Amino acid sequence: MERNVKKVVIIGGGVSGMTAGIYLQKAGFQTEIYEKHTIAGGQCTGWKREGFFIDNCVHWLTGTREGSGLNRLWKDAGVLGEDVLLYKKEKFYSAELNGDKLTFWRDKERTRKELLALSPDDAEEINQLMDAVKMAESMTVPVEKPFDMMNPIDYVKMGISMADMGKVMKLYSKMDIRELASRFHHPLIRMAITDYMPPGYQAYAFVVSYATVTGGNGDIPRGGSLEMAMRMVKCYQKLGGMLYTGTEVEKVLVKGQKAEGILLADGKTVKADYVVCASDTSHTFTQLLDASYMPQELSKIYKERELYPVVSAFHVAFGIEGSFDEVKETHVFACRPITIGMRRTERMSVNNYSYEPDFAPKGKSIVQSMFVQTEEDYEYWMKLYQDKEAYHKKKAELSEEIEQRLIENYPQLKGRVRILDVWTPATYNRYCNAWNGAYMSFIVTRNAKSRTVPGKIKGLSNVMIASQWLMGPGGLPVAASTGKFAAQRIMKAEKIKL
Ligand SMILES: Cc1cc2nc3c(=O)[nH]c(=O)nc-3n(C[C@H](O)[C@H](O)[C@H](O)COP(=O)(O)OP(=O)(O)OC[C@H]3O[C@@H](n4cnc5c(N)ncnc54)[C@H](O)[C@@H]3O)c2cc1C
Repeated sequence: MERNVKKVVIIGGGVSGMTAGIYLQKAGFQTEIYEKHTIAGGQCTGWKREGFFIDNCVHWLTGTREGSGLNRLWKDAGVLGEDVLLYKKEKFYSAELNGDKLTFWRDKERTRKELLALSPDDAEEINQLMDAVKMAESMTVPVEKPFDMMNPIDYVKMGISMADMGKVMKLYSKMDIRELASRFHHPLIRMAITDYMPPGYQAYAFVVSYATVTGGNGDIPRGGSLEMAMRMVKCYQKLGGMLYTGTEVEKVLVKGQKAEGILLADGKTVKADYVVCASDTSHTFTQLLDASYMPQELSKIYKERELYPVVSAFHVAFGIEGSFDEVKETHVFACRPITIGMRRTERMSVNNYSYEPDFAPKGKSIVQSMFVQTEEDYEYWMKLYQDKEAYHKKKAELSEEIEQRLIENYPQLKGRVRILDVWTPATYNRYCNAWNGAYMSFIVTRNAKSRTVPGKIKGLSNVMIASQWLMGPGGLPVAASTGKFAAQRIMKAEKIKL
């Protein structure tokens, strides 16, 4: 007998929303995604300027190593596959200080050797760190099913697969990045460790992120972030999913303990059997639904700002005449002090996208600099944005200052650089309704409890949440897995085999 096809509307066409849509289409549901922006992808995106392509997401995609559940998920969603080439990152990043240079290579033994040569006094710490990186390579992101749908055997299997991670956590979860750095004597090692991760991150986040690269599990799909998002769109539409871009959702329509559908900003209503909220959770629980529906775990995170901070960034993209072979991938160096937002810094990064020849016109290069911004800085930018002229003036001033510092470090670039675009934490809010301008979710600081927010809503049986905000520190794997979990919850409610 034919099953009555149930309809699911999904609010938000980011990675979480599209993953939910893809799995639901595969399971036989009729789905529609409503995305406010003119294209899907959300924060996984990029755009063109003056013939250059500005990639604004994937620095590494966890899950590129064959064999893991996350790798299968990316393949199911059209992100990875036989026809998708990977750029195998050579390094995590490099840094310099006072003429010394240090690289966290993909080849961890090369890094170990270089660190030991740089600072023999730090041998014990170096070896402990590099051994931990090796152990952390086994880390997998659990994406088979949500925790609340796991049975005791699933938990045992997960425990076994995470055995080495337990040791890494024991060593590095009770200290933050700054404390990890302070264990080393050499000033460049201390500086390099604090260069990459924003303040507050637990030291183990550094170990795990670096291990993703050394373990060959964090490469970059060729074509960059926008092409990755477009492959997901293609996969979704091929399965029969309907994507409506440039269509903002105003509200989830609730009657009693259920949602009846959604109200669009243009006044139209769309009926549905299920609703998946795949927008930023702060927006979901202030604009789309009443705040009283917010899961307790999530409201605690939003209130405890010291324990669960978020960060954003100020970015500048530069077009360069000719090649810029002095820098490969990401490099961090000392610069004249500069204040961006409320933060003064004496370090800046430059990321050369030369690994993607199509990102720049022939004979030219594109590089980007990004500066971490905190919630305090976000307030600064949002306030400034109220006066558009002042906002644009500040962006122009700062980008010129940054250009000068780039040229001071690389005098050979003089007369060859032009500013292509500048964007701030306010940009993320404007385009994606991103809370506090954040593009990753909250940081679990040293004294904070690791919190997982349920993807279900108490009092609304047919509304699910999918978003990177359900688990710190967010990112593409969390967005995608929560999308899959939202689909699985609906399948379970409809008694469809997972
Ligand atoms: C500079 C940068 C670098 C990054 N680097 C990495 C990296 O290297 N690796 C990694 O794993 N992650 C990285 N990330 C993070 C990653 O991009 C995000 O974690 C992920 O894309 C979030 O997906 P999401 O679906 O949860 O949210 P979003 O991408 O925010 O998607 C939500 C969507 O909902 C839409 N929406 C919101 N409100 C409404 C409404 N009312 N009606 C309709 N639509 C609505 C938004 O427009 C958006 O498209 C990076 C992000 C940035 C910006």
